Amino acid sequence: MTDTDTDVARARHDEVFALGAEFTRREIWPHLDQWEEDQSIPRELHASAAKQGVLALGFPEAVGGEGGTLLDTVALQEGMCSAGASSGLLAGLFTHGIALPHVVAHGGADLVDRFVRPTLAGETIGSLAVTEPGGGSDVARLQTTARRDGDHFVVNGAKTFITSGVRADFVTTAVRTGGPGHAGISLLVIEKGTPGFTVDRPLRKMGWHCSDTAELGFADVRVPVENLVGEEGSGFYQIAEQFVVERIGLAVHAYGVAARALELTAAYTREREAFGKPLVANQTVRHTLVEMHRQVEVARTYAREVARRHVAGEQVIAEACLAKQTAVETATYVCDKAVQLHGGAGYLHGTEVERHYRDVRILPIGGGATEVLADLAAKLLGYAA
Ligand SMILES: Cc1cc2nc3c(=O)[nH]c(=O)nc-3n(C[C@H](O)[C@H](O)[C@H](O)COP(=O)(O)OP(=O)(O)OC[C@H]3O[C@@H](n4cnc5c(N)ncnc54)[C@H](O)[C@@H]3O)c2cc1C
Repeated sequence: MTDTDTDVARARHDEVFALGAEFTRREIWPHLDQWEEDQSIPRELHASAAKQGVLALGFPEAVGGEGGTLLDTVALQEGMCSAGASSGLLAGLFTHGIALPHVVAHGGADLVDRFVRPTLAGETIGSLAVTEPGGGSDVARLQTTARRDGDHFVVNGAKTFITSGVRADFVTTAVRTGGPGHAGISLLVIEKGTPGFTVDRPLRKMGWHCSDTAELGFADVRVPVENLVGEEGSGFYQIAEQFVVERIGLAVHAYGVAARALELTAAYTREREAFGKPLVANQTVRHTLVEMHRQVEVARTYAREVARRHVAGEQVIAEACLAKQTAVETATYVCDKAVQLHGGAGYLHGTEVERHYRDVRILPIGGGATEVLADLAAKLLGYAA
């Protein structure tokens, strides 16, 4: 990159960061506590996010998006976190970021018109359903079946932990259309209201309270063959392809929220006095703040670089795993220290760092558990036996 390219990229980053921060201050921050209580975010937020150019950023204009790349969604979500958006809020508002990319890449014009455009316009909500009650890490063993019957697939099985599953109008669902293993898996878009498709129960969680999560049931659900995404049997590969972006996205949640928790903690330790002086007057407190800062800087710099390499067309599957793990460890450390330095106030509901502390606990589990990603990285980096 030339110096001019770098300046242009930085200016674009700052512009999109500001868009995310302003949107959050205006549309999210005043309501977030209530949405946490409600265990859901309202549909109107999707509509206003679409109107204000936030929802469809990073999706091509040809499918109803705002254009831009992963670097824009990274900048947007960094800006949102800086103004107090939570990891749960990002998960609930941007669930289409995991539900639509397969449809955009492999779905054809009909599926794009029916599912992608209305979702990017904030009119409908989509989810991605891969995980099953029997297991999430080992995707190749999933058991929900889709048997071909004339012009339909007949789907039977269950999915669990599905983000936005309570509210979703459609679910991009991983099903077994063939034999065992990866090659038997396909992706089908299943619409709410199709007989036999049920939201069996909303799931209550440790954190991510404003992001609804559901267990879904499928009993002889007849899904038109037109709802197949890409080739039959290509589902596993499509899921794997999109995991890179999902993992970089979760890294942004992690270091974005950590940066916010650091800022809140730095302010608190300047204001709060103990033993006749501000907390920050203690060397150990200052050193803790510097360590929090160091970890945020490293996580952010590395994740941005991996995102840049992905956008440049490089294969960064292992690096996306490492970026997620680095950022997740940062968030775990930083949010823990943030609660500690807030003292008793940090343990109270309603104190922002308490919410971040609970919210980030899902990040080493969702989108690929740390151990599973380490194993994948080991294989790709040549450390396997
Ligand atoms: C709030 C929330 C939102 C979610 N949203 C979605 C969603 O929208 N769509 C979706 O499909 N899924 C979603 N998930 C599911 C999530 O992706 C899974 O929880 C995750 O993949 C782990 O699967 P599991 O829970 O079945 O754990 P398991 O696969 O049972 O694993 C349990 C634990 O065992 C360890 N482990 C597993 N495999 C290995 C191994 N090979 N080596 C060493 N240790 C191992 C890890 O510590 C892992 O956490 C969500 C989960 C939560 C909690």
